[in-house]
Parts: sequence; structure tokens; C-alpha cells
Amino acid sequence: MDEIDRAQRRAEEQLADALAEHRRLMPQGESAKWCEMTGCGERIPEERRAALPGVRFCVDCQAHLERLEKTRK
Ligand SMILES: [Zn+2]
Repeated sequence: MDEIDRAQRRAEEQLADALAEHRRLMPQGESAKWCEMTGCGERIPEERRAALPGVRFCVDCQAHLERLEKTRK
């Protein structure tokens, strides 16, 4: 394997990592009909599910999670 192949391989691995990270952060697939936060179970409005594909939480829980996320940094 020459230097160019190695660089190519490395670039592909980095891209794959970046995509995996992106998939982890971005919810995908079917949006939840009901908030999946333990003890919440709030209905997720149709507009929210349409606007955020793969959404899992109601507005309140999402905001709460985002606040937690920020304070942890
Ligand atoms: Zn909720």
C-alpha cells in the first residue's frame, strides 16, 4: 500500500467516524408518537414529528435534555 492509498484510507475512516457520530446525535427513523422520557408520556404533536424526523421527546423534555447537555459541558 503506498502513501496515497494510506491517506485515502484514513480519509475514508474519518468520514465513516464523522457519519457515525452524526447518526448518533441526529435522531433517525420513525418519530415517536409519545414522549419516551421516563414518567412523561406526553403526546408529541404531529407538526413536531413532521418537523423533526426521529424525534423522541416532547418539547419540554427536549428542552430539559438540552439544558442538561449544556450544563455538562
Ligand atoms: Zn416529555
